[in-house]
Amino acid sequence: MSEHDSPARHPADTEPFDYLIVGAGFAGSVLAERLTADGKRVLVVEKRAHIGGNAYDTYDDAGVLIHPYGPHIFHTNSADIFEYLSRFTEWRPYEHRVLASVDGQLVPMPINLDTVNALYGLNLTSFEVEDFFASRAEEVEQIRTSEDVVVSKVGRDLYRKFFQGYTRKQWGLDPSELDASVTARVPTRTTRDDRYFTDTFQAMPRHGYTRLFQNLLRDVPVMLSTDYRDVIGLIPHRHLIFTGPIDVFFDQCYGALPYRSLTFKHETHATEVFQPTGTVNYPNDHGYTRVSEFKYITGQQHPQTSVVYEYPQAHGDPYYPVPRPENAELYRRYEALAKTRPDVTFVGRLATYRYYNMDQVVAQALATYRRLAGLAQGAD
Ligand code: FAD
Ligand code: UDP
Repeated sequence: MSEHDSPARHPADTEPFDYLIVGAGFAGSVLAERLTADGKRVLVVEKRAHIGGNAYDTYDDAGVLIHPYGPHIFHTNSADIFEYLSRFTEWRPYEHRVLASVDGQLVPMPINLDTVNALYGLNLTSFEVEDFFASRAEEVEQIRTSEDVVVSKVGRDLYRKFFQGYTRKQWGLDPSELDASVTARVPTRTTRDDRYFTDTFQAMPRHGYTRLFQNLLRDVPVMLSTDYRDVIGLIPHRHLIFTGPIDVFFDQCYGALPYRSLTFKHETHATEVFQPTGTVNYPNDHGYTRVSEFKYITGQQHPQTSVVYEYPQAHGDPYYPVPRPENAELYRRYEALAKTRPDVTFVGRLATYRYYNMDQVVAQALATYRRLAGLAQGAD
């Protein structure tokens, strides 16, 4: 569709939009792309001054490609998701590696054979380290919390060194107060595999995320720097798709859903390399959890280098839903309210209060699209 043909771009046209989409992150952009490809009239409204949501990337003053909202590494086991996104970007293979600063050493995280050998001055084999973990593991009847997950696998010493401090800092909660799913994101290995992820597909968009989003939204009108609440009454539309925080949509009528926030401190250094790997975690020292160096992640060659420090915060922009039973309970009340609004679809990490990675949000958006397309067909 050329710019000229697009019905969405005729301001005089009084036909309502089929879909008004709030948010130009992965959830909103994938739905906008799919629905537009079906010939629907779509408008995206984004309150920030850019597309891409938290996956947005841009060049800093030194000309280094950075992720302003923290390091975003793409990984998925789904060939379908990878193929879908491949329509909008080429890829650069990248396997992320993380070191943790513990007891004065930088050791592989996830904990693996080399981590244990380095930390305890041992020379165990893969078989022996399995026994090492088994001898320290605590029996936990039912694995419910983020503490249970770790102590039942590797015992309390490694739990304290790698997980307890990091989690308290990141979430402002002890691991015993968080669902098992949080620390279960990070496995334990008896091999020397030091990759952070083991997914089948691990790659970065070759020209960055923002370019990927530009391609997704090529045929879609987008209003930037616009809060949907300021314009919703002025834009006739048949259906609303909302990808912001669900509690805010309902004016926090049941109280605020907790989200964890971060402050990002970006720095550029006049040296080619700053640290030995893409991310270094600091479980036990400092106010920040981790430091990431973008050139490892993006593959960019540059005489300078830029890094970001992540400082967890209770208040600020909502970045992480906080997985624990009372929050799930509160979310369910908002979800029930959402069901009374057939004119609105809620999708994405904040709107469905799920600690989702990018590929999971894309999968959720594509499933939502299929449902909406099915409904539209049923109505014809
Ligand atoms: P978002 O990207 O948050 O998009 C929602 C959009 O809605 C935002 O742009 C927001 O401005 C807009 N919006 C909200 N309210 C309004 C309003 N009232 N009016 C208009 N617009 C509004 N995932 C990975 O797979 N790999 C990683 O390495 C990774 N690292 C991460 C690191 C950090 C620090 C964080 C916070 C997340 C990370 N993620 C990672 C997760 C990833 O960011 C999300 O899965 C994904 O970006 C969520 O997409 P979304 O569209 O649901 O939400
Ligand atoms: N975690 C930890 N120590 C680490 C890395 C992770 O305790 O060195 C825990 C912590 O609770 C963290 C969770 O595992 O929030 C998930 O880690 P991940 O790296 O997946 O977090 P994200 O990249 O989503 O911030």
